[in-house]
Amino acid sequence: MSRPRPLAILGGTFDPVHHGHLRAAWEAAEALDAEVRLVPARTPPHRPPPVADASGRVALLRAALAGQDRLAIDTRELDRDGPSYTVDTLASLRADIGPDRSLVLLVGADAFAGLASWHLWRDLFAFAHVGVLTRPGTLHPPSGDLAAFIAGRRVERLHGPSGQVIDIAITPLDIAATAIRESFAAGGEPRFLMPTACFADEALLAPYRALGR
Ligand code: ATP
Repeated sequence: MSRPRPLAILGGTFDPVHHGHLRAAWEAAEALDAEVRLVPARTPPHRPPPVADASGRVALLRAALAGQDRLAIDTRELDRDGPSYTVDTLASLRADIGPDRSLVLLVGADAFAGLASWHLWRDLFAFAHVGVLTRPGTLHPPSGDLAAFIAGRRVERLHGPSGQVIDIAITPLDIAATAIRESFAAGGEPRFLMPTACFADEALLAPYRALGR
């Protein structure tokens, strides 16, 4: 029996989804030969509430992902009450896929450098590998407890279901949802920062357009 592809996840607010997210997820899918799921967060513990509600953000994600099957959406954090801790999401995914399949948590290099502040961060490695999305020319070296913990876990190629750290070089695209929301708020039309399909249904953009009124 052939081994199933690794499953990788990219969490985020996706308020709204843009080409920075999509391209990073796609390049990770290619680099790891993985299925990648985008996991929209319901209640980010550390930031103001999203502009679009969960169903609106998911609808934009669906529009963005139409026509391909390498990237998918996983709504489990939206189906759960309360804050979405990554460790809970990974535990839930691990329960779904069984003990053997490779599971990879994708995080930006800047977020990875701060991993030691995450809830039960050491447990993340019991459930998954970590794929660090690295933009060439930028350095976010881990320090302290994290550096000590990952020493010996860094690999060039993932083996086994969990526990390792791999760098994934991605094309730097300087796109952020914050700038897209600011563009809408200024009455702009932030086309080509996000998929054209997202502009096909005005109802999906209404919460963002309302920022400008
Ligand atoms: P905001 O501007 O609202 O903070 P964002 O654009 O950074 O949002 P998030 O939903 O917070 O988007 O990001 C989800 C994930 O995608 C994070 O892991 C983040 O590091 C990554 N990401 C966001 N923008 C990019 C980008 N331009 N290139 C690569 N990865 C990105």
